[in-house]
Amino acid sequence: MNGPSFPTNLDAQVEAARQTRVDDLRLTENSSDKVFDLIVKTAAHYFNAPIVLISILDQQRQWFKAKIGISRAETARQDAFCNYTIQTRQIMEVLDSLADPRFESNALVLNPPHIRYYAGAPLITIDGLGLGSLCIIDTKPRPALSPQERTMLEHMRDMVMARIDSLRIDSFVDEPSGLYNRTRLQMDVGESLKDGKRVMAVAADMQSLPFLNDVIKTLGYTFTNDLMLAMRDRFFEVLPDGATLYKISPTRFAFILLGENRRNAPALLKRILKCFKTPIDCKGIPVQSDLALGVLDLGPEDTSSNDLLRLIVSAADDARRRKVGIAWHDPILDSAQLRAFKLLSSLAHTLQSGNEFWLAFQPRMNLRTGKCNSVEALLRWNHPTLGSISPGEFIPLAEKTALIKPLGRWVLAEAVRQQAAWRSEGLKLQIGINVSAEDLQDTEFVAELERLIEKEMISPSDLGLEFTESAIIRNGEDTRRVLQRISHLGLEMAIDDFGTGYSNWAYLRQLPASTVKLDQSFVSEVESDVKAKQLLRTVITAAKGLGYKTVVEGIETQEQLQLVREWGCDEVQGYLIAKPMNASSLISWLEIFDATDIV
Ligand code: C2E
Ligand code: CA
Ligand code: CA
Repeated sequence: MNGPSFPTNLDAQVEAARQTRVDDLRLTENSSDKVFDLIVKTAAHYFNAPIVLISILDQQRQWFKAKIGISRAETARQDAFCNYTIQTRQIMEVLDSLADPRFESNALVLNPPHIRYYAGAPLITIDGLGLGSLCIIDTKPRPALSPQERTMLEHMRDMVMARIDSLRIDSFVDEPSGLYNRTRLQMDVGESLKDGKRVMAVAADMQSLPFLNDVIKTLGYTFTNDLMLAMRDRFFEVLPDGATLYKISPTRFAFILLGENRRNAPALLKRILKCFKTPIDCKGIPVQSDLALGVLDLGPEDTSSNDLLRLIVSAADDARRRKVGIAWHDPILDSAQLRAFKLLSSLAHTLQSGNEFWLAFQPRMNLRTGKCNSVEALLRWNHPTLGSISPGEFIPLAEKTALIKPLGRWVLAEAVRQQAAWRSEGLKLQIGINVSAEDLQDTEFVAELERLIEKEMISPSDLGLEFTESAIIRNGEDTRRVLQRISHLGLEMAIDDFGTGYSNWAYLRQLPASTVKLDQSFVSEVESDVKAKQLLRTVITAAKGLGYKTVVEGIETQEQLQLVREWGCDEVQGYLIAKPMNASSLISWLEIFDATDIV
């Protein structure tokens, strides 16, 4: 005889779905359930059967959610009669197992409990997954069930399924609010889409997390919970019929809009925002909520429904960040997030090896001598799959993480190494390094700078440091002290992107800087726009008047060069002179440049 034909008969995918359902039904085997126990008792009584089981099929075994007349809690799955029951999908009866070739050598027949008679009603979910069975067992053969008995067994089986469903519903409820939870939201959206409907899902972020933490700290958990219930009630007032409310995280609700509600969404969402502008009264204390709505509209063809929660939550975050109240899911923003994530995760990896980075050098030309005495080091990243990535993209990203620190260190070490190499070749060329706010906050950075200068035996004046106003303003006193220390070492200190920030001149004067670099945005419109021309002239004159060496960046045309030279600018940098290039191209460039007269 062949063994039972499961699970080869059961499609592997169906089996996986079935198992997940067994898990998420919360049919935990250790907790007994009064309702299941009662059903089993009633069945034993009605059918006058020594053994009754509610049996659930696991991967390896069948275990009993409720049982009567048997002490063991499980058997091997291969011996389970209900393997057959869930496949037939109807009541399966075995009148005498010893006369049935499928069971005559079954362990449960030959050994205790010595099953001779079996009647099983399969437990099938609405979506067609067979979970196990309700079964009546005798140790003696029996005649077949009468039609009435079959109906009774089916009724009892239906009671078991009803109980299973209600347990399942419990697992979809957010306890404190009594609302459905995120799992249920995901499922409801999935179901509507399956029915061919369009669904609009909206995440409602009530408050920023820091604010919520403050409320908890000041007024306690009970108050916070009551506040959340008051918010829920306000939603009940403003949401139209048919829009179910969900609780998806401590600070967020969600709802879905279908049909008419979906078509009226723009007006409805505005009304909701307005409604939450009035403070919410909680135990006599008015609390201002700060609602941000994130919206995603889905049709049956959409594939993003699996990602639903992430997408609506990040749209709501976007609304909060931009202070616009409502933001629609933006696939472009989302792909930007995915790219940012990809870049940052590979950056972490690359920093360990360092071999995807290199420094490009862009010459600065002295307008008085026409010579190049210094270059700016610009970081380059050749990503193995994404290609060359601009520092304008990955540095701001890295600045939001701890990765900026090792990145800054890499640039520093590489610039010093290059300086030492040039020095040993007899080339005298200052290298300007860009530093970010994080580098300047960190006294270890200065220590490392000192150590490297000493180790490579280079002169500090062979290095320059470029920092932006915004990097200083963000961190104040500490950063200024670090700058002082670096300045005392003897590096050329330059304020980068000068004039693009707040440009509090009085404040800038206190910074230890001898040079200002004027941003390329000043230059780009100088030829076409009279005001831009006047502005650049004014800034150069003012900077000169304050005693700064002025460097204008982004010079692309002879006209621009002529103008800034007339106005007294000291040095220029830009594509007209040279683009950033690698160290060996720079050497060739210098040879030609020194021999020609570009000025
Ligand atoms: P930045 O310091 O203002 O650097 C000047 C930028 O202008 C460079 O862009 C350079 O390639 C570009 N540029 C130079 N001349 C011209 C020109 O004539 N026309 C135009 N259109 N552009 C010109 P890049 O290399 O993409 O760097 C962008 C920014 O990334 C830099 O702006 C700097 O803020 C940052 N950065 C680059 N390397 C580093 C680094 O090692 N550390 C830090 N913290 N930041 C860096
Ligand atoms: Ca710079
Ligand atoms: Ca700049």
